[in-house]
Amino acid sequence: MSENKIPYKIYLTEDEMPKQWYNLRADMPNKPAPLLNPGTLQPMTAAELEAVFCKDLVQQELDNDTPYFDIPQEIRDFYKMYRPSPLVRAYCLEERLQTPAKIYYKFEGNNTSGSHKLNSAIAQAYYAKKQGLQGVTTETGAGQWGTALSMACGYLGLDCKVFMVKCSYEQKPFRREVMRVHGASVTPSPSNTTEVGRKILAEFPDTNGSLGCAISEAVEVAVKNPGYRYVLGSVLNQVLLHQSVIGLESKLAMDKYGVKPDIIIGCAGGGSNLGGLIAPFMGEKLRGEADYRIIAVEPASCPSFTRGEYRYDFCDTGMVCPLAKMYTLGSSFMPAADHAGGLRFHGMSSILSQLYADGYMEAVAVKQTDVFQAAEEFAKVEGILPAPESSHAILAAVNEAKRCKETGEEKTILFGLTGTGYFDLMAYARFNDGEMQNNIPTDEQLAESLAKLPKVEG
Ligand SMILES: *Cc1c(COP(=O)(O)O)cnc(C)c1O
Repeated sequence: MSENKIPYKIYLTEDEMPKQWYNLRADMPNKPAPLLNPGTLQPMTAAELEAVFCKDLVQQELDNDTPYFDIPQEIRDFYKMYRPSPLVRAYCLEERLQTPAKIYYKFEGNNTSGSHKLNSAIAQAYYAKKQGLQGVTTETGAGQWGTALSMACGYLGLDCKVFMVKCSYEQKPFRREVMRVHGASVTPSPSNTTEVGRKILAEFPDTNGSLGCAISEAVEVAVKNPGYRYVLGSVLNQVLLHQSVIGLESKLAMDKYGVKPDIIIGCAGGGSNLGGLIAPFMGEKLRGEADYRIIAVEPASCPSFTRGEYRYDFCDTGMVCPLAKMYTLGSSFMPAADHAGGLRFHGMSSILSQLYADGYMEAVAVKQTDVFQAAEEFAKVEGILPAPESSHAILAAVNEAKRCKETGEEKTILFGLTGTGYFDLMAYARFNDGEMQNNIPTDEQLAESLAKLPKVEG
């Protein structure tokens, strides 16, 4: 089909929506390292994981071999409320940049929660319900995951207890309220409702909270209350599996028009949207059927891939969770109060970490002020107010497109536009007022938290 036939938006039909998730691990020559029990340093068994996580999700977490998992009909029905999501050809951005590059983005912000997180939230809530549980607990930092999970639980009639990092709870009252609309209870963390919360409050009465602390509280409540399990919105293998729907839809839409991306770009916090977007493309690359340049974009304030070490580490600051092998800055690393809240995690998905270590993908770290400048350039021409997290991918895509302008290469670029920025307007205000800063950790700061990594072989 000729180039000018490609519409601004490529939609799949409902019937074309994926009926299975793709498990990239099945095609990986080197599998991601297993989660370890922090006490015994042995791989976590299904029985150990099931004390904290839902049963079916544990199976998905541990399965490195099954390439496809059926998406249950109930989940597909829910997906139909906001999927298939559009694949947009960014003609206006191309025009603005005067680039010969062809730019596409997959837009995941078209739902009330405003991000891709709903793709996994509904799956996790579904399996909790199927297991006959009463509810789930979780933490949320910036609030996107908590919002998505509240929507999914509200839909299925499950109780949802969200521990929200205290400073976000106070700074983002609107997100908190959306969660309550959907029936979730939202507790600022640290709180006096848990043992670990009371302990932290006694020691640091003025703390603003942290993701690590909120995780510890959510896990405690799940473990102590029969009928409850803990769920997590990124990093885990199961989350990347659910998010593969992003990449599968993108690939189908591009195949329909005979388009093949040269470069695939996504922002990377815990790695779930990037892992999902690249899944089917990376599968082809691993099987030797095609080649793609794949780029992870992270904030210079929290640069796990580009400045971290590939080691076993805790996923939480409270050190109650299993150890994961990943690119990490150390679980005691405290990223600066950056505005891309969804990218402020010290570690990275084990799947993406292994692929990066094996040389299948690249990573770049970008500065916050450059990210917001790209976000506003994009908003002006494409008409979408992007989330700060997503704007990391925009910036990298724009930089690649500018390079094409210099070299005259007509590369096809695909990037993930993970969400919208309506709850991030305070951050935009800071940028517009010229008050935004770039907080980049020094080598000494990183060395300090890396020195505290647990000493584990592997
Ligand atoms: C949570 C979030 C991210 C980062 O998380 P990943 O697991 O790395 O995808 C990116 N964009 C948005 C909009 C988010 O909410």
